[in-house]
Amino acid sequence: MVEIIEKSALLSSYPQDIDKAIGITTTVPIEIIYAAGYFPVDLNNVFISSDDPSRMVDHAELNGIPRNTCAWIKGIYSAAKKIGIKRLVGVAQGDCTNTHAIMDILDFAGLDVIPFEYPYKRDEDRLKCNLKEFANQLGARHDDISSMKIRLDGIRALIHRIDELTWLDNKVTGEENHLWSVTASDMFGDYNTYEKEAREFLKKAEERTSVQHKIRLGFMGIPPICNDIFSFLDSLGCHVVFNEVQRQFSMPFETATLEAQYTEYTYPYDVFMQIEDIKREICKRSIDGIIFYVQNFCHRSIYEKIIRKLIDIPMITVDFDRPGPINGAMMTRLEAFVEMVENK
Ligand code: SF4
Repeated sequence: MVEIIEKSALLSSYPQDIDKAIGITTTVPIEIIYAAGYFPVDLNNVFISSDDPSRMVDHAELNGIPRNTCAWIKGIYSAAKKIGIKRLVGVAQGDCTNTHAIMDILDFAGLDVIPFEYPYKRDEDRLKCNLKEFANQLGARHDDISSMKIRLDGIRALIHRIDELTWLDNKVTGEENHLWSVTASDMFGDYNTYEKEAREFLKKAEERTSVQHKIRLGFMGIPPICNDIFSFLDSLGCHVVFNEVQRQFSMPFETATLEAQYTEYTYPYDVFMQIEDIKREICKRSIDGIIFYVQNFCHRSIYEKIIRKLIDIPMITVDFDRPGPINGAMMTRLEAFVEMVENK
């Protein structure tokens, strides 16, 4: 067995009491986790922000995860092992089957897997029951959950302002937008620190001068695993003004209840609701072109056919396997796409 020795910079910023940590593999109602006295650790974030994510992928393969499995899954597996997490939430509906298999492997390895389910048909009443069951399993009280929703909504408003500073004021880069939105899934396991850092960032960002780029792009699909795609697009004169899935992690819709919030959240449900939201944002944000990012071996690439039919602005599909920099062939394809968008 290969031991992973690198220390994740992000992991060190989480609270250190591992007995209180609950691993998550996708966005789940963290209001309930916090209200129950635990803290969430998004294993995707731990993986991708580690010193050497590629090595974490190797570790998973050496421990029997098949090579033809998506790299995010391998990263989740290694992250769970690396930090010695004891509990995690298993999303039985609304995530992917690869995650289900990893849950079983981690369950078999002795972790306590707490099930949670988004209803298949986006049914608010059913979701309400599922939230209640999830809260009962963790021992969270209704009043504490309601207060936590109000508290976290206040923090999410800061992330929504960062988003506005990206597409409206052109003061925040697509990469900064991506990082703040993607970490909204667990808020560093410590929402007070997350809020403090977001406020500090906002203060500095508001003082920046707006930058006008020649092209405005949007990302949809899975959050990219490669580490330099944003800076490469920036070097081509493109401003990424929309990170579709990451924005969903920040719960962009105003809601009065937890069940409404997680019913409006598009990621776990059908692709049509997701496309409606994307079309609205394309218009609002004046987006010139879309990058549909797919992960190798991910089922979501099957949606491409529908997406291309329903979204009528220039689109390029890019796929990656392992974490790391983008390669020369991908750079050439992106350059050609940007040129095509510019000519349009
Ligand atoms: S990229 Fe696709 S296959 Fe991989 S974890 Fe995400 S949804 Fe599952």
